[in-house]
Amino acid sequence: MTKNAADTNRRRLIKLTVTGLAAAPFANALFSGSAEAADMVSESDPTAVALKYKMDATKAADRKDATALCSNCNFYSGKPSDANGPCSVFGGKLVSAKGWCSSWVKKA
Ligand code: SF4
Repeated sequence: MTKNAADTNRRRLIKLTVTGLAAAPFANALFSGSAEAADMVSESDPTAVALKYKMDATKAADRKDATALCSNCNFYSGKPSDANGPCSVFGGKLVSAKGWCSSWVKKA
């Protein structure tokens, strides 16, 4: 292999590596194809712990309003029939429609 061929191969490898690294953050969005593939908020997520999020609102000790659910919260943008939906408080991650957290505000 000549020096020029080796340099060309090295440049090609560097280009492919840089392109792959640049595309990596978008891979999930490209291959997911459905809202269900979006991240679900875990009760152990530090923000969820701070906001006392529970996937089952009946298990939230600090919930005072028995009708308060993620599905009727102002920050929830899922459809009424969906089991989960995006919550803007959690950056669009999915929360359970039957969940609750201390940031709950009645849907306007
Ligand atoms: Fe549910 Fe509203 Fe809390 Fe989001 S902000 S987790 S929709 S109660």
